[in-house]
Amino acid sequence: MIHMKRRNRRTVPIVLGATYNQLTIVKDLGMVSAGGEKARRRCVAKCSCGTVITARLDQIKGSNTTSCGCAFKAFLVSGKARRSHGRSLSRFYRIWAGMVDRAKHHREKPYKDVYVHSDWRVFSNFSRDMLNSYEKHVAEHGERNTTIDRIDPFGNYEKQNCRWATYKQQANNKRKLWNKTICESL
Ligand SMILES: [Zn+2]
Repeated sequence: MIHMKRRNRRTVPIVLGATYNQLTIVKDLGMVSAGGEKARRRCVAKCSCGTVITARLDQIKGSNTTSCGCAFKAFLVSGKARRSHGRSLSRFYRIWAGMVDRAKHHREKPYKDVYVHSDWRVFSNFSRDMLNSYEKHVAEHGERNTTIDRIDPFGNYEKQNCRWATYKQQANNKRKLWNKTICESL
C-alpha cells in the first residue's frame, strides 16, 4: 500500500494548463526536496494575478495553496479588514489554515473522519461566514480565548456545525458529548 502511494505521488499525471482555485499549472518540476524536507512533487504555477510561484502539487490540488498569497493580501486591505485589528486578523487566518490542515492530513486520531466543507476551503467564504462572530467573540473574551468549536465534535467543519467558544466551553462541550456517546453505546 505504502509503495503504491509513493509511486502514485511521483507519477500522478500533471495536466499543464489545469487550474485549481486561482492557480494554473505551467510546469512540472518532478520530485524536488526543498528546505530539508523530503522530496515532494512540485510544479510551477501562475496565479490569476499574474504572479508565478513554485509550490507542492498536493497543496495546489488541495486547499493549502489557493493563490500566490494575493487572495489573503486583498482580504487584508479590504474595508472589513481595515476596520479590524491587524493582529487578530492574522490569527483568524491561522485558525482557518490550521482547520484545513488538520482535517486534510488526518494525522491526529480525533480528526480522523472530519472534513472541511468544500465552501470553507476557500478562505474568503470562511471569513464571510465567521469573521463578524469572531470579532464579537474576541471583543468579549479576548483573542487567545477564541477558538473554533464544532457543536457536534464528530461533525465536520461547516457553517451549521461551528461557533466560537472559549477553551473552557469547548472542553466542556467535548466532554459532555463524548460521555453521552460512550454511555449510549454501552
Ligand atoms: Zn496572486
